[in-house]
This record gives sequence, structure tokens and C-alpha cells, in this order.
Amino acid sequence: MKSFFPKPTFKVDDIISYAELVADENANVQKGMNFQIKPEYSIFLMSVRKNAPYADEFDEKTGTLIYEGHDVPSNLAKDTKEVDQPIATPKGSPTENGKFYTAAQSYKMGMIEHPHKIKVYEKIKSGIWCYKGFFNLVDAKIVNTGKRNVFKFYLLPVEFISKRKEIILPHSRIIPTVVKIEVWKRDKGQCVLCASKENLHYDHDLPYSKGGTSLTAENVRILCMKHNLKKSDKILSFSPIFLS
Ligand SMILES: [Zn+2]
Repeated sequence: MKSFFPKPTFKVDDIISYAELVADENANVQKGMNFQIKPEYSIFLMSVRKNAPYADEFDEKTGTLIYEGHDVPSNLAKDTKEVDQPIATPKGSPTENGKFYTAAQSYKMGMIEHPHKIKVYEKIKSGIWCYKGFFNLVDAKIVNTGKRNVFKFYLLPVEFISKRKEIILPHSRIIPTVVKIEVWKRDKGQCVLCASKENLHYDHDLPYSKGGTSLTAENVRILCMKHNLKKSDKILSFSPIFLS
């Protein structure tokens, strides 16, 4: 996969509806894992809610997003949580697990120059999603849980500077989904300054570029686009708007 420069519609940490997600991708994103939904990238939908079907995690030490692979379809097993997550279908073609696993291994073994790009959206609550940005797929493992084998995919957040240049973002940039869910409840799903429910965004009170943390709800709040832009103007000389 070649390096590329995406046309940014959403900013990282924008709060969007499912309809906006679908309209922007111009594709019906329904599965959690969508390999190469566009020539340049794939899509993961993630969720760490208590009743979420998969165990997606965020490693605060390394800044890695760990996305769990998917189970066999329910027509192939009585209890889909009892059997290994499949790398291939009964007919032998690769599953989404298999496609992403191969992409990660190809990169690790130096067979492809650039890591596979994955765009991530996270579910905050029913109908409410958050754009999490682009990630590099840097590793994949098959892990035994004591009961069965599951896939784990390791993703690092990436920011595009130009067509040729991308940077891996610092750990503190990522707001974990659990924090976003807590903030959503606390701020009642509206801008804390004007109570607007339109064009919302998760904002670092103290920007992460100035040492603000993403890991606790205290430094994260919901702002509408207008108030987020106002704030960005003030601190623009220190941090570009897309990093605020
Ligand atoms: Zn506002």
C-alpha cells in the first residue's frame, strides 16, 4: 500500500452520527472489520462498552490500540465464543482476520514498505460515533485466552503531514473510549459552553501538546465546532488546530 494524503472530512475526536459516517465513507460500513474498503485504507469500528462483543483495549504505556479479531459466523458454531477465531472460511478463503493478519505480517517481514492504514471509528453510544483517525497496522498475533485462540491487531495512531511524510502521534494524544463515554455522560452530550448538540468535538482542556493528558475525564470536555475553533485560534501559535 502506497503512502497517501487523505482528504480530511472529520477531525480526530469529532462526534458524528452513524449516517454521517456512512455518507462520508460513501460505503455501508456495517461489519466491525472492513478490509480495504477503499484502495488506500481499511476501516475498524470499535467499542469498549461493557456489553461490547469484543475486547478492544488501549495500552496506555505504549499508546497502542489493540483490536480483537472476529468470531466465526453464528451459523458455523453453537457458541461462537467457544471456538477459535477463524483465519479462513470453510471453503478456504481468508476471513477479515486472515486478511489483516497477512497485511500485518507482510509489513513486519519487510515485504511491503508502508504499514496497512486503518481508519478507526469508535462507538460512544447507540447512534453516536467518534472519529479516531488513521492508524498504522504494525503487528498482529494469535493469542490463546486459555479457552481458544483469538486475533489481536496492534495499531499506532498516525498523522499525515504531507503526501510523503507521516508521523506517529504521541501516546497522550489518544483519548481512550472509556474516557469519552464518561465525558459524554458528564457533559450530557452537548457543548459545555453553549449547550449546542450540533457538530460536537472532544476537546483537551489543556492541549496535549502542552502537557495535557487524555487519560482522565477531567482534562477532556465536549465543545461545539464554533467554540472549538475559537479556542484553536487562541492557541494556534503554539499548536496547529488539528493537534488541539
Ligand atoms: Zn458551543
